[in-house]
Amino acid sequence: MTDIHIRQDGHAGRITLQRPKALNALTYQMCLEIEAALWAWRAESTVKVIVIDAEGDKAFCAGGDIAEMYATGTAGDYAYGQKFWRDEYRMNALIAEYPKPVVSFLQGFTMGGGVGVGCHGSHRIVGDSSQIAMPECGIGLIPDVGGSYLLARAPGRLGEYLGLTADRMGPGDAIYVGFADLYIPEDQWTALKSTLCATGDVKALEDAAQVPPDAPLRTSQPQIDMAFGGARLSDIVNTLSRDSSDFAEAALKKLSRNAPLSMECALEIIHRLRAGTLDIRKALELEYRFTSRSMEKGDFIEGIRAVIIDKDKSPKWRHDLAKVPSVDVAAMLRPVMGEKLTFEQEERGMKIGFIGLGNMGAPMAANLAAAGHTVVGFDTMDVSVEGVTRAATAAEAAAVADVVITMLPNGDILRSVASEVIPAMKSGAALLDCSTVDVESARAVAAEAEAAGLLPLDAPVSGGIGGASAGTLTFMVGGSEKAYATALPLFDIMGQKSVHCGASGNGQAAKICNNMILGVTMIATCEAFALADKLGLDRQAMFDVVSTSSGYSWSMNAYCPAPGVGPQSPADNNYTPGFAAELMLKDLRLSQQAAEASDADTPLGQSATELYARFVEAEDGRGRDFSAMLPRFEARKRNG
Ligand code: NAD
Repeated sequence: MTDIHIRQDGHAGRITLQRPKALNALTYQMCLEIEAALWAWRAESTVKVIVIDAEGDKAFCAGGDIAEMYATGTAGDYAYGQKFWRDEYRMNALIAEYPKPVVSFLQGFTMGGGVGVGCHGSHRIVGDSSQIAMPECGIGLIPDVGGSYLLARAPGRLGEYLGLTADRMGPGDAIYVGFADLYIPEDQWTALKSTLCATGDVKALEDAAQVPPDAPLRTSQPQIDMAFGGARLSDIVNTLSRDSSDFAEAALKKLSRNAPLSMECALEIIHRLRAGTLDIRKALELEYRFTSRSMEKGDFIEGIRAVIIDKDKSPKWRHDLAKVPSVDVAAMLRPVMGEKLTFEQEERGMKIGFIGLGNMGAPMAANLAAAGHTVVGFDTMDVSVEGVTRAATAAEAAAVADVVITMLPNGDILRSVASEVIPAMKSGAALLDCSTVDVESARAVAAEAEAAGLLPLDAPVSGGIGGASAGTLTFMVGGSEKAYATALPLFDIMGQKSVHCGASGNGQAAKICNNMILGVTMIATCEAFALADKLGLDRQAMFDVVSTSSGYSWSMNAYCPAPGVGPQSPADNNYTPGFAAELMLKDLRLSQQAAEASDADTPLGQSATELYARFVEAEDGRGRDFSAMLPRFEARKRNG
């Protein structure tokens, strides 16, 4: 099972977090996949609503997966964490600004990174189990992922209170404070999701919503407004210290657990947002100033150590409570000079290197660019493709890519391109070969890529040039689950279906087995038509019988080789390809090469290969559709 399940279901673009054992903690990869899917669905007119939910009843999402940030941060590498935050925040803004309704179902814990995914949409649904919080100050961070935006908009001083104490909100509070919209009992959620998929209309949610439970924060707000109205953390601490109420004592206890620098900066961000532009981008930009410095100059590493790694709950914060110098706050919140957080179009989606922009590659690359991905292409021929930037070399196209896609003529060319791009690719990127090549080349390239720390996939296609243009290809995919999950949003754009066939090379194996059947059935269909002619059987009658009898096949029913019979096919266009006979010959040869290597007996595959070889190399088959076998048989007698 992958960590996230992204698919279109009826009129809904559906995102399901599925790491219930990890309380659906959000990984970097999940952030990228959510962003890519949202971009694809923006342009897809049949998607009318986005539905975000999660598996398990304990949590929608209990936060970001910070294990790798901790590992890299303790080794002095802060770039990984910074990149994680930049890419995550861009996704948070995309949800907040999305032009279609975004519905989230928030059972159990929704905290930190989970708030970034679940609490910026248009219809945020809570039930009795919902518990929402921004607990980041407890690990030396600040309420981020746009949390400061929600906190700054909360009534009175509830934002300051919730951000600094990390208190949890039940369903009534979450709606009162502005982290949720509708209270709907959880036993109705499954049926509502089905309705959303079937209709694409959010009206059903409003009809199902009930009066929310009490909001205890509404009652305690006057006290909170008094205590949390100070300009600095020290003002708040002083006010609470002078107050002997149970509320003040409990609040002070909560503050004394959290990182002082984080609380002081969170307070400052909330105040700045209220005083100036209160929008999500401004909030994320201020948050990034803090988080991008939090490992090197803040308490984040120590916070994770104490709370998550060693679990000793005795963090040694850099400052004492209420004694954070203003100069330290200013240093954390001054503008970032290096890699900045951006929301620009070209920064959104994945960065894709596309190598081989021929008949198939060009429309595939164009579809990816149209869906909002940044595509840099390379071909040895001088081609230009709409929305695709040209690189001077294959290595240049691959250098910054999250995914490199190849669509090349054969295995030898694939091997040589792979040896050029693999060293240029960044670690962890995916290498997705969509060409049809021999299984051996696919497996050799995959091994080389894996050794270099990349995620290889072989994913040959069926559907031809028409399918490549229309984005309706079928992908047969070999490679790891992780690699498949990375490429899935791209398959959804370039095609209508992808089948994960197992380990590396299995995609090619599926492709050549399929095309061996296709070659054999096309020959069988063509020779049967020629025999029918000689027997005086009308072609239409032949089609009417066979297409509904046991001789039916794709070659007969969908791609009939007889002109004027059956649905439109290349036969009706004087056998202009379609799928050229020489490409069928290439695939049949690959099938025989594989049969030879694996000692498989394929007599019909062998005959089909010999026939297509003669047709292409010695007769008039080159440049014609592979169904032009019919006029060939028509013109022949029994012995040649
Ligand atoms: P094509 O010949 O139109 O495209 C291949 C492109 O690769 C060309 O533009 C060529 O210039 C480029 N190229 C060659 N060597 C290169 C290199 N070293 N670096 C960069 N670019 C290079 O072929 P196509 O029809 O697009 O098919 C591509 C692949 O898809 C093939 O493996 C084919 O078997 C498979 N396929 C094709 C179809 C179809 O209907 N055309 C259907 C399914 C699968």
